[in-house]
Amino acid sequence: MAENLSRVRAAIDRACDRANRDPSEVRLLPVSKTQPTEKILAAYEAGVRIFGENRVQEAAGKAAELAAHADLRWAMIGHLQTNKAKDVAAFADEFQALDSFRLAETLDHRLQQADRSLDVFIEVNTSGETSKNGLPPGEVAELAIALQQFDRLRPRGLMTIAANTDDQDQVAACFRTMIEVRRQLQDDDRIDADYGELSMGMSGDFELAVEHGATTVRVGTAIFGTRR
Ligand SMILES: *Cc1c(COP(=O)(O)O)cnc(C)c1O
Repeated sequence: MAENLSRVRAAIDRACDRANRDPSEVRLLPVSKTQPTEKILAAYEAGVRIFGENRVQEAAGKAAELAAHADLRWAMIGHLQTNKAKDVAAFADEFQALDSFRLAETLDHRLQQADRSLDVFIEVNTSGETSKNGLPPGEVAELAIALQQFDRLRPRGLMTIAANTDDQDQVAACFRTMIEVRRQLQDDDRIDADYGELSMGMSGDFELAVEHGATTVRVGTAIFGTRR
């Protein structure tokens, strides 16, 4: 596990080098979905303190099972239905797939009840693929403005899953769209929050994502192996 982690980290650092970026700007978020808790513990032993998961029930179960590790945190990275907001509000530290006003409203309400707060990323559909979640780039600012009324949500940035293709130009175009959307938010006088973080890049495209400005890469298979 430690070897897998350092191999991925080294690849991130080399991509930073190519792009003249400071490696400390790029966070590696290991994605442990479908993986057993033994592997999570092995990564924990190797120094990982936050894990990405995409299914609420599975993540809540793991969080309960590993509750003795008080410094272990959870980032929910998958699409969330409003009726599961309560569970996420109870244990997650970060939610990367925010894509509707109604979900934001429900999360904020549940977080108030739990007396917690949550780091959030707005998910952007940069590929235009209808199978993908997230807001079209042109609708992100409107949600960012609306989020300002919810004090339990702490906006941190934007998240995307790039086009699922071997065509590097098409994947890079998705990453460039993220830079563009971030610039639009930064230039918008109606938005005070800083959407500086870009969560983009997975096992197959994280190096390209880093070269294009990713600040968080979400890597599963390349660290934990093939999913069951
Ligand atoms: C599963 C998943 C990942 C990690 O995928 P790998 O290809 O295994 O690295 C990243 N982001 C999201 C949103 C995921 O659901």
